[in-house]
Amino acid sequence: EMLKENMQKWRFLQKNRYFFKTFKIILIIPYYNIFRCMKGENYMKLLIVEDEIQLADALTEILKRNMYNVDTVYDGIDGLDNALTGVYDGIILDIMLPHMNGIEILRQIRKEKISTPVLLLTARSEVEDKINGLDCGADDYLTKPFVTGELLARVRAMTRRKGEIID
Ligand code: CA
Repeated sequence: EMLKENMQKWRFLQKNRYFFKTFKIILIIPYYNIFRCMKGENYMKLLIVEDEIQLADALTEILKRNMYNVDTVYDGIDGLDNALTGVYDGIILDIMLPHMNGIEILRQIRKEKISTPVLLLTARSEVEDKINGLDCGADDYLTKPFVTGELLARVRAMTRRKGEIID
């Protein structure tokens, strides 16, 4: 009888332990992340200019999950308009875009003295554009296809550099 009672208690505790674990995952972790955002940790504002909608949306999702605030546009004109606001901590800029290509956008924003760090996305065949892009004031480039880890590392490096300039 005692043993049975103890078993029941033990089960109850186990259940509660499970409950608290779930509670922690569902409630505490998101609040912790929101708190971190409010403190301004890891809360950088990025612009993605990419006309391949699936890629653009995947990048957006990944970066948002990594606590970046992301605006996404799918063509060159919108890209230039947004970039010219100068509110971003970094721009992820595709080269081949409808209406206006990435190099042209880069040239325009540097002409306007906007120093937002720019990470160019290039296809393997666009070597000339890569060189051109760096000459026009890009900070870094990433060749498609790339893995998520590398993108995140380069975005971190890019935004870190910006922080150093401000400090
Ligand atoms: Ca493209």
